[in-house]
Amino acid sequence: MLVCEHCAASYPTEKPRWRCDCGGTLMLESPARFDLAALRERASNLWPNLWRYADALPVPIADAVTLGEGATPLLPLAGAWGDAHFKLDFMMPTGSFKDRGSAVMVSQLKRWGLTEIIENSSGNAGVSVAAYCARANIDAHIFVPAHASIGKTAQIALHGARLSPIQGTREDVTAAALNAAQATFYAGHSWSPYFIHGVKTLAFELWEQLEFRAPDAVIVPVGNGSLVLGCCLGFNELRNAGMIDRLPCLIAVQAARCAPLARAWQQWMDVPVPVNKENTMAEGIAIAAPIKGRAILAAVRETNGLFVTVAESEIFNALKIMAKIGLYIEPTSAVAPAALIKLREQGEIDPAASVVVELTGSGLKSSEKISEMLGAEVAGGT
Ligand SMILES: *Cc1c(COP(=O)(O)O)cnc(C)c1O
Ligand SMILES: [Zn+2]
Repeated sequence: MLVCEHCAASYPTEKPRWRCDCGGTLMLESPARFDLAALRERASNLWPNLWRYADALPVPIADAVTLGEGATPLLPLAGAWGDAHFKLDFMMPTGSFKDRGSAVMVSQLKRWGLTEIIENSSGNAGVSVAAYCARANIDAHIFVPAHASIGKTAQIALHGARLSPIQGTREDVTAAALNAAQATFYAGHSWSPYFIHGVKTLAFELWEQLEFRAPDAVIVPVGNGSLVLGCCLGFNELRNAGMIDRLPCLIAVQAARCAPLARAWQQWMDVPVPVNKENTMAEGIAIAAPIKGRAILAAVRETNGLFVTVAESEIFNALKIMAKIGLYIEPTSAVAPAALIKLREQGEIDPAASVVVELTGSGLKSSEKISEMLGAEVAGGT
């Protein structure tokens, strides 16, 4: 059942729908079962993808559109940040955690019989949706900002999606996509409840990889909030099934230069604060007005978590620290280790706590950006 988060109207899942008639966002109620014996067997049978959790997903495995996503490594690493586990979600088919969400979302688009969809994204989501639509034989039309990086647009185009570059802000891109969606189905990942159900497998994998225990805290970047909402949903499902007793604290990280949610958190507000977005190297989370802002703030509160902002210098520093130990991540992803370093310095994390840092995206699509950043540094800039 699809349920409106605004007016509580409900809709059956048989027909394509991306929002409520009132304009509200939809959530998806769907049963989640966990069979430990089956999971152990699937792990030992090398079923190394997220579909081993099919009993907890809204799409049956027979309908899965898959590129082998999920089951990414969880690496324990000690360093400037103390002890922590790093979840290498950049090791996904298209190089970002977005594949968790796209796999489940595009599987549902396919079940709905859609042959053509519209999506808007400046980067990883567009790449991921383009790849899964290619796999599913669905024509994807992706709206991107005119200044989107070539590492991402080239990949979108090569997957066969139609690319529409739009001049103006990210909000202008969304408006153009919504306008086009009057004729074709809008499959925006930031709206889709199926996308969140895909991302929740991150919580399941952390639990499984920590020997069927939840960590004490999970640090994630937040832009549109699919990681926060996905982790909150996934850990809640595990708790409701009696698999864990309490939710890990979600530590949600934004770039100080675009922090509508962190600012709201500091001011005890339950909706995002309007911000003037400045340029940040964390372009993947530079979302000035997250659609599900209220739900994201509520999710962090529910887990007893917190919001953290990081400055550009802290992001760049963390990017370099990660690379020096062999992990080439994209600048957006560096906000999570940057937050851990900062929280440790401030003594805000119990040294005995088990902490997971989610590494969301590969550096390979951002090499152009990264080399510009290095060039600016050599030239004496930031
Ligand atoms: C999309 C993205 C994020 C943020 O995820 P949201 O669901 O928008 O909060 C973080 N890192 C990378 C690399 C991304 O592509
Ligand atoms: Zn509604």
